Amino acid sequence: MGRAGMTAAEGQAVVEAKTEKELQNHCINWLRLHCHCYLQIPFGKKTGIRAGYPDITVFLPGGKVLLVEAKSPAGGELSEEQESFHAEYWAATGETVRVVRSLDEFRKLLTKESPND
Ligand SMILES: [Mg+2]
Repeated sequence: MGRAGMTAAEGQAVVEAKTEKELQNHCINWLRLHCHCYLQIPFGKKTGIRAGYPDITVFLPGGKVLLVEAKSPAGGELSEEQESFHAEYWAATGETVRVVRSLDEFRKLLTKESPND
């Protein structure tokens, strides 16, 4: 274990994620490693997916759902469609779509949401 309870591979991923696609891949690898149930919208996938829907949906104990939008660590912004979906989701559920820019942020979000993980 290295940085803050992460494996060496996770710590290395934090250092190496430079693009949104890389960050998404690292987040999905983390979910697999920790046996989470999830749905990923593949990077760049547009067909058949509602515009603005977040990149990663994580299904949590008790029927809770966590929606995560990965953004480039170098400052990628939310699109108009993403902002619109986030607002609609909040209005419908009282929950927010979480935006992450690093595996470390993603990991902290999931370990907070899943205290038994
Ligand atoms: Mg994204």
